[in-house]
Formats: sequence, structure tokens, C-alpha cells
Amino acid sequence: MLNRLKNLSSEFLNILKESSSLADSLGFKVYLVGGVVRDLILEKNVSDLDIVVEGDAIVFADKLSEVFGEKLQRHHSFGTATVNFNEHKIDFATARTETYSHHGVLPKVSSASIVEDLFRRDFTINAMAISLNKDDYGKLIDLYDGLVDLKKKLIRILHEKSFLDDPTRILRAIRFEQRFNFKFEDKTFKLMKTALNIEALRFVGHHRIRDEIFLILKEINPYKYIKRINDLAGFYFINSQIELKQKDLEIFLRIDHSLTYYDGKLKNHKVLQLYLIYLAGILCNLSLEKVKKITQDLGLKKRDSDIIYSIRKGLTSIKKLANYKTPHIIYKTLNFYSRESLLFFYAYYGKEVKKNIKFYLNELADIKLKTNGKDLKRLGFKPLTAYSKIFKKLLYMKIDKRFKTKEEELNYAQRILDRLAEELNP
Ligand code: ATP
Repeated sequence: MLNRLKNLSSEFLNILKESSSLADSLGFKVYLVGGVVRDLILEKNVSDLDIVVEGDAIVFADKLSEVFGEKLQRHHSFGTATVNFNEHKIDFATARTETYSHHGVLPKVSSASIVEDLFRRDFTINAMAISLNKDDYGKLIDLYDGLVDLKKKLIRILHEKSFLDDPTRILRAIRFEQRFNFKFEDKTFKLMKTALNIEALRFVGHHRIRDEIFLILKEINPYKYIKRINDLAGFYFINSQIELKQKDLEIFLRIDHSLTYYDGKLKNHKVLQLYLIYLAGILCNLSLEKVKKITQDLGLKKRDSDIIYSIRKGLTSIKKLANYKTPHIIYKTLNFYSRESLLFFYAYYGKEVKKNIKFYLNELADIKLKTNGKDLKRLGFKPLTAYSKIFKKLLYMKIDKRFKTKEEELNYAQRILDRLAEELNP
């Protein structure tokens, strides 16, 4: 495995070298584990590292972060710690074993050896480790034939009860199957079906479901992942009323395409929370009340639930956009919405609505007035409270008439002022 380690960035290699010396001086055994090992073997990019310590991960991470002068976040109850090295995150965990009292609940954990730590993992391809201690630096520990399964492109669980112990592994299995174009090993697939038949995902808490679903929706082009979940299980574990027919699934493909437009053509491009657009697609056939309840149950951040809610709410009103021609009416209709919502509407509706959303994003969204409060005061506007209305009027006028200069804006402001004076003293 030594050759594979050499593919890591020099920054990572430096961290591993220091880890190696530190492990020996503390008398700990230290390993690189899980997805990192899988991705190294698959020659994929590695952006974060997972390190398991036979000993005390917090003590280890503490000393290592001292060497690099980085800050450490400690999670004493889990025996884990995280260090951020520039843009990279390194998680340190004390080797542990897990016992499940009921299906779907979080397990009881106790410290253990690397052998037991690997056994608690989800799939053979994620249950390999690379030793970092000096005497066997770079040695692959592959107790469950993860390497063979990687070569055969198979997703295989480690023991019969795996999906029942932690049903989120069903979603994880689908994520890796789709991401790597792998297949489920036969018995694994049978056991997954058994777990699905008893709707095991119902036993899982909403927040864990949210975390796994978000990981899926953050994959590149999640359409095929969503389709696979829908075909195998449906989305009852988010809400029993969600029912996606083939026709409903097309929205996800259309979102994928809209993103290509957004990424490729749009001026003033902003980074979007794409997973919210896809989640809105999963929820968009439900009532507003249901959508609100689900976003609360899932524990979404306020901004995120507002976006989902406004997408669902806008679905009926945005349709009218197809008939609008006046620029400021188009602006007024769309300005209230987040970019995520606009992308959703762009994907959801036909040509005319699309055209107006494009027009808004490319031509209108960034129009700003050159006139400010001081200018209005100088012209003689009062009281101050009316300013926001006047600014709005000026902006809409600027959008329709395309004022270019500040002088044009001020001339129009003067006309508003004259009209107001006439109204007050007819
Ligand atoms: P990704 O490339 O998406 O980050 P990953 O395999 O690194 O995938 P993580 O969620 O970061 O996934 O988890 C790291 C490792 O922890 C996994 O590779 C796996 O060994 C283990 N793991 C994570 N979740 C579970 C789970 N639900 N059950 C068992 N093991 C898990």
C-alpha cells in the first residue's frame, strides 16, 4: 500500500509522517481507515483523512495538532477529535466496538482493538485500514476481503444483522453503489430487501435520515440515486405520503440540466445549496403544511426550510410568470426568491417561464440604484419613512426604462417629488 500512500498530497504525507513518529513515542497503534483507504486504492482524490488510534485518540490528536500549531476540537463523549489543516479535515477516533440494543438506535460504544473497530463498519470496501506505525508503515489491514470486493466492484456487508443494526446503511449502500457503479453482493441484496420489507428505515431518527439524505443529494447528479431509492424503497422514511411516479422523477433530471445552464452561462454565478433544490423536488407534491412539518422534523436550518417552503409555496404563483412581459413585474415576482428556488422553478416550468427567469438572472437581478438617501434629502424628500417606497418606485422605473446615469434617476425622483407636492396641494 506504500505506493498508494505516495499519491497523497505532500501536506497529508507530512501529517502521516508526524503521526508515525508520534504513535511510536506514545506507544499507540495508529491507522488510516475507512473511505480514505478505499479511495486511495481506487486512485480517487482524498480531501479528508480518518485516523483510528488504539490508545487515546484525543491525546494523540492533541499532541499532533501542537506539532502543526493547529486548533483541535475535542468530543470527549465519543473519544474523537477533529483538526482542520488548511482546507482539509482530519478526524481522529479511538478504536471502538459497538453494541446495538434495538434496531436503528445509536449503539453503545466501548474502546477496542482495530480488529473490532473494522468489524463495526458498514461494508467490506470501507473496512480496510493502513498502518501508520514505523515498523509496519503502509501495511494494508484487510480482514474482510475489501480489496477483492473493490476489484469485483461489490458492496458487501460484514455480518447478517448489519442493515437491521443500522438501517441508514441501506442508504449508504445505495450511495456507494451509484457513485462507483458497483453491484450489491447477492446475500447483501437479500438482507437489504429483508430490512426494507420490514421498513427498517422507520426506526431511524429524523436527524440521521436527514444527514444520509443530504449526503446523497450532495453527490454529483443525484437523479440516479433518487431513482434507485425510489425503486427499491420509496421515501416513506421521510414521510409516508411521498409517492414519486416516473413522471415525478423527471424533475430531478431537469434540475441536473438546469444546473448545467446555471454553471455554464450565468453571469454573477453564486454557490448554491444544491441539495435543497433536490429535496424540494422530493417534497413538492405534498401540501404546504406537510412540507413545513417535514422540514421541522428533519431539523433543517431556518434558511434551508425557508427555501424549501418558498419553493413549494411559489409553485402555483410562479406559473403566471409565463404571461409577464414588463421587466419590473418580472423582477418583482422573482426578487423575493433565493437562487435555489429560481433554479427549481427554472427546472420545473416550461419555455416561457424559463425565458423570464433567465432574463431576470442575466439582466435584472443585479440592477442597483445610484441614488441614495442623501440625494433624496437634497431634492427635498421627507419624511424619511417614505424613502423605501420611493427607492422601490425608482428601481422599478430604472428596470423598465433602463436609466443609465444617476442624472436620469434623479430627474425621475424629481418628477415623483413634484407629483407628491401636487397631490398634497392640488
Ligand atoms: P465519503 O467518500 O462519502 O466521505 P466515507 O466512506 O468516507 O464516504 P464517512 O461517512 O465519512 O464515509 O464514514 C467514514 C467511514 O466510517 C466509512 O468508510 C465507514 O468505514 C464508517 N462508517 C460511516 N458510517 C457508518 C455506518 N453507518 N455504519 C458503519 N460504518 C460506518
